[in-house]
Order: sequence, then C-alpha cells, then structure tokens
Amino acid sequence: MTEYRQDDERHGRGMAAKHSRITQILALLGVLAMALLAPTASQAESMRVTLLGTGTPNPHPDRFGPATLVEAGEQRLLFDAGRGVTIRLNQLGIPMREVTAVFITHFHSDHLVGLADLWLIGWLPPNYGRRRVPLRIWGPEGLGKITAGMEQAYATDIAIRVKDEALPRSAAKFDVNEYGEGGVIYEHEGVKVTSFEVNHGDLIKPAFGYRVDYAGRSVVISGDTRFDQNVIEAAKGVDLLVHEVVAIPEALFAVNPAMKRVEAHHTTPEEVGTVMSEAQPRLGVLTHYVLTSGPGIPPETKDEVLARLKTRYSGPVVAGHDLMAIEVGETVTVAHPR
Ligand SMILES: [Zn+2]
Ligand SMILES: [Zn+2]
Repeated sequence: MTEYRQDDERHGRGMAAKHSRITQILALLGVLAMALLAPTASQAESMRVTLLGTGTPNPHPDRFGPATLVEAGEQRLLFDAGRGVTIRLNQLGIPMREVTAVFITHFHSDHLVGLADLWLIGWLPPNYGRRRVPLRIWGPEGLGKITAGMEQAYATDIAIRVKDEALPRSAAKFDVNEYGEGGVIYEHEGVKVTSFEVNHGDLIKPAFGYRVDYAGRSVVISGDTRFDQNVIEAAKGVDLLVHEVVAIPEALFAVNPAMKRVEAHHTTPEEVGTVMSEAQPRLGVLTHYVLTSGPGIPPETKDEVLARLKTRYSGPVVAGHDLMAIEVGETVTVAHPR
C-alpha cells in the first residue's frame, strides 16, 4: 500500500491526498530550482573581467579610453580610468560607489582622464553616485600629486555642492596609496593585487602592469608596455592575460618616420604572440589597440592584427572590444554581456 492510499483512507478525501502530492512535487521542484540557480563552487570562485575601454588617446567612438574592470567576490577593481569609464560602468548597471578600488598603470592622460569624472559624479546624489567615502586609489609614486591637483582643480565645484546640496565634503577626496617598486600592493578578503614594472619606453616612467589573484584564479593586465620579459614572468600559466598591442601599417613608416617611436613604446602583434606563447595563458585577450593610419593608408583591422599574432602563437586568444566580458573560473570564456 502506498503512502498515497494511506493518506487517502485516513482523511477519506482524495483531494487532500492529491494536494499533499502536489505539495511534495512543488517542494521537489523548488529544491531542483534552487540547486540550478545557486552558484556552484566553481562559479562562486570565478572572477569576471570586463573591458570597459579598449582604446588609446584617439577619440574613437567604439573604443573608449583604457579601463578594465575585475570583479572578484564582492569587490570591483578598476584598472585605469580612461575616457568614458563612467558611461561603460553605467551601461553595466554598476553605480560608481561600488568601485572598491582603482589602480593606475602609468600617468599617460589616456589612462587618467576618466578619473575626475568617476570621482566627482560618483559623489553626486543620483543612484549612479552616492559614494560616502573617499575614492580609494593605488598607483606608482606621483599619483598623490595628480589627485591633489584634481582636488584643487575641482575645489570650487566641491565647495558649491557641499553648501548647495549638503553633500559630505569628507567623501569628495581620494584615499591615495602610492607604491615605489612592484610587489603585492593590495590584499583584501582573498583578493591580492601585485604590481610589476613594465617597459613603456625610457622616458615613460613609472609604468606598471598588474596581476590579480583570487580563489586560485589569476588575471594579468599588461598596462602599456613594449615587449617585456616582466609581463611573461607575471603571466606564466595565468588564467587570463589582457595585453596591449600596436599595429602600424608598413607604408606609414615611409611617410611618417615618427611612427617608429610610437611603435617602440608598445608591443607588436608578433611580439604579443611571443609573450603569449612563453606565458601560456589559458586565454589571451587584446586591448589598447594602437592602430594608426595616414592619407590613403587605412589602419589594420583587428583580424589582421590577430593574424599577425597567430604567426607566433597558436593558443586561445581573442580580439577584445569594449564591454567584452570574460568569465575566469573552471573555464575561461567570453561571457554574455549583462
Ligand atoms: Zn595608453
Ligand atoms: Zn601609455
């Protein structure tokens, strides 16, 4: 005799038994749904990397200034703050106050011009803002001078809003953390950030790249650099290597010899191929596209850049674009945008 029948006899009503069975089925479905929706251990331990801007100083409509978001656990770490970074964060539905910390690679303006915007509108009352603490920022020596300059440049705006909108003055500040040499510069709730010096050219110092480690996953961001062994060392066996690239059409050097200097500050596709083939990341992604052109000389396409890279590297690599997101977990895959 089944439980159903016992229940049926006890209550003398078929409906009650049916109800109880439906309840059981619903409960089972609920458990199944929870199991499907709950993050698995591997998802919980994954990082998500979003390329907020893959551009350069060039005011390109599709490629905003350099900025890469790394989400690890509850933390949102922003690497560089180029043009349009606030627009990209807003497109992801991330309020500026939820940026846990900012890390600057070097002081070329294309990596910094979005910082004042992030800092100041992050303090405003709309939902995209409402930061009530100073903006925490890490970077090489010299960063404090830049943020102090910004505090001075916007002192009038800050004074007006403190009086007019009763915004807290204490939050209209930077919490600056400068470092001299590379090494572990940030450790918080299982997230570790290590900076390493890179070679962006003899006169462009300081210049650093970053590595983020969290729950056994790792991401390396090259920063702006020419071919550099330091990137290879930092990225050996890393899950994701985000690397800059320069591709200047051969014909352009003849009409504009200064382009040789530009190329010498960055990493050519073939050199990125060498970096990746020596570091063997689980996935490589290209960003910070220095793609130049001249009269009658079109810039190289991303496909051409990838083809050049692949002459030296046959592993997994993708051409990044603004808002491309990569899930770094059990597998390292290009994810659906939010
Ligand atoms: Zn740059
Ligand atoms: Zn640079």
